[in-house]
Amino acid sequence: MMQTVRTIQQRMQAAAERAGRSVDEITLVAVSKTKPITDIAAAYAAGIRHFGENRSAEFAEKARSLSHLPDIQWHFIGHLQTRQSQPIAQSAAYLHAVDREKIAQRLSRQLQDAGRTLPVFIEMNVSGEESKGGFSAADWEQDTQQQAELLRAVSNIVALPHLQVLGLMTMAPFRAPDDEIRSVFRRLRQLSAWLHTVLPALDAPALSMGMSGDFEIAIEEGATHVRVGSAIFGGR
Ligand SMILES: *Cc1c(COP(=O)(O)O)cnc(C)c1O
Repeated sequence: MMQTVRTIQQRMQAAAERAGRSVDEITLVAVSKTKPITDIAAAYAAGIRHFGENRSAEFAEKARSLSHLPDIQWHFIGHLQTRQSQPIAQSAAYLHAVDREKIAQRLSRQLQDAGRTLPVFIEMNVSGEESKGGFSAADWEQDTQQQAELLRAVSNIVALPHLQVLGLMTMAPFRAPDDEIRSVFRRLRQLSAWLHTVLPALDAPALSMGMSGDFEIAIEEGATHVRVGSAIFGGR
């Protein structure tokens, strides 16, 4: 595990250097979904502090089992069903996939009761694949109606008192040529830049993008958070 983690960190560093960036501005989120506690403990021993889960009950169970590790940070990275939001409001450190206003409003209320604020990413569907979650953003450059809808949704979510919007998140197509994957990541970065021009008060520059197969491309295109599972923990 130690060597695997080191290799991923070296690949992140090389990608950052190619883009003239510092690797220190990029957080490696080790996606431990479906993997046992022992694997998470081994990755922790290898220096990993950020872990990603995508099932609410599994997250709650693992967070409880590992609560003796005070600096462990749990990222909820998947689609969050309405009735399963309570554990996330209680104890997740980050949420990467705010994909509708309703879940954002519900979380904000639950966070108020829990007396805390949750850092989140808003998920954007840039690739246009129907299987992908997130706000429709496949035609954001041309489609003025889509622009208006994105603007309205982002403004409403940013206005919620107990969510702190850090930035945007997306997923690239799984099996696609590198240039197509790169274009999805680049277009998310450009969408973020556009949102900052039309909403001057917005301060949400982070970009959660890149998984095992494409995290180096994502870093070259500006990712601040990469979500890497199988390259660290093996296949699922
Ligand atoms: C599972 C998952 C990942 C990690 O995928 P790998 O290909 O195993 O690195 C990243 N992001 C999300 C949203 C996921 O569901």
